[in-house]
Amino acid sequence: MKNTLLLFCYCIMIFACQNKTVIAKEAQEEPTKAKETEIWEPKPPIISIDVNTKIPSDAIVLFNGNNFNEWTSSIDSTAVNWILNSDKSMTVNDKTGDIQTKRNFGSVQLHIEWRSSKEIRANGQNRSNSGVFLQNRYEVQVLDNNNNDTYVNGQVGAIYKQAVPLVKASSKTGNWNSFDIIYHAPKFDMKGNVSKQSTITVLHNGVLIQDHVTIKGTTENIGWPKNNAHGKAPIKLQDHGDNSGVSYRNVWVRELK
Ligand code: MG
Repeated sequence: MKNTLLLFCYCIMIFACQNKTVIAKEAQEEPTKAKETEIWEPKPPIISIDVNTKIPSDAIVLFNGNNFNEWTSSIDSTAVNWILNSDKSMTVNDKTGDIQTKRNFGSVQLHIEWRSSKEIRANGQNRSNSGVFLQNRYEVQVLDNNNNDTYVNGQVGAIYKQAVPLVKASSKTGNWNSFDIIYHAPKFDMKGNVSKQSTITVLHNGVLIQDHVTIKGTTENIGWPKNNAHGKAPIKLQDHGDNSGVSYRNVWVRELK
């Protein structure tokens, strides 16, 4: 018993000594200098913001109200048949079909402004329904949802039939809205399977409504999302075919690596 007690005391002494040594060693080490955690290269590119339009200098202007040069009909790749307005906006020309960019895009930052019809022409999904499609497949819903109830995964700002917006941040009916979208394209493996799903963040009138949401696949009206492999693709604006009267203006995009 006496021997066991002595052994126990000995162990305690050894542990205390070792612990003291470690603490002393730590105290001797040099503290991290601020310089050690600084990164100087490579420097980010310098851009500027236009004082009047607020468009970044590295953006591609897709629509500034002057013409449809960057756009084509989604039906047959002919000239756009939508209405060019004197206030630098364009309006969906009912039943003439969707329009899409001539250029193809992958991951982007997209700015787009839209306005519902001033007149209330219908209810539910037929009231000023349009949409902004990323890569021709993934729709951010445009809808006059003011005093106009509908399913929440199809309301304004929804990733259609997939992601309900965090809040409804609409302007009054007939007033301009903005969408600022950060979209990261999906990646596919050699077999054509999704290796990385696409994600999307949306600000509606400057308010976060989709917070880095994972897109499950194509935004189908009927059926479940599909995930067929694709590369870069156009940005598309929807003609819902119900006399929506939706207008768009000030569309620009920055390609993301
Ligand atoms: Mg729509």
